[in-house]
Amino acid sequence: LLEREGASPERARLVVLAGPTAVGKGTVSTHIRDNFPGVLLSVSATTRDPRPGEIDGKHYYFVDHAEFDRLIAEDELLEWATVHNQNRYGTPRGPVDAALDAGDSVLLEIDIQGARQVKRAMPEAVLVFLLPPSWEEMVRRLVGRGTESPEEQQRRLETAKVELAAQDEFDHAVVNDDVARAAQEVVDLLAVPAAR
Ligand code: 5GP
Repeated sequence: LLEREGASPERARLVVLAGPTAVGKGTVSTHIRDNFPGVLLSVSATTRDPRPGEIDGKHYYFVDHAEFDRLIAEDELLEWATVHNQNRYGTPRGPVDAALDAGDSVLLEIDIQGARQVKRAMPEAVLVFLLPPSWEEMVRRLVGRGTESPEEQQRRLETAKVELAAQDEFDHAVVNDDVARAAQEVVDLLAVPAAR
């Protein structure tokens, strides 16, 4: 029964895309969402407010702190973390389990603390570290985005410095010098090799 054609539960992959803040994880995952409709991208829950253009249920599930507490208490999150010392973000467990059970690979775009938790819970997960072309480019992106206050930018850069050191814990590194190419590399990692 497990030998269904084209789907093999024990071979579906959980791929985790993480990396320092402002490295372009969001841009790469948006590119994947828009150009690879076949890729199952996990939708996280977060306590932060939506940015202009963000849609509840598509980019995030926007929840209040009470609801986030409930998700934790009921063990509905595969992992969760407080990011940049203020808001909480977490991966709903149900959709990930359902996809893997159905033999479909899933992609998570989360922070490094979350990636570590996933690896601990599911050692077979494939951890991908997205690298900036350079530190200068990363600073330029963070400042150029203009969505955060100078204080918030400073806080995120401090976080990024620490996060760059986590690279060694990851299975793959992808350099984000070109969004389309980086996205393709990540998508290639989702593909399950054909059974021999
Ligand atoms: P942003 O607020 O810019 O959308 O995301 C801030 C950070 O939260 C990013 O580093 C992003 O990868 C991370 N993040 C988004 N969703 C999750 C999640 O479900 N779990 C964890 N641990 N981090 C997340």
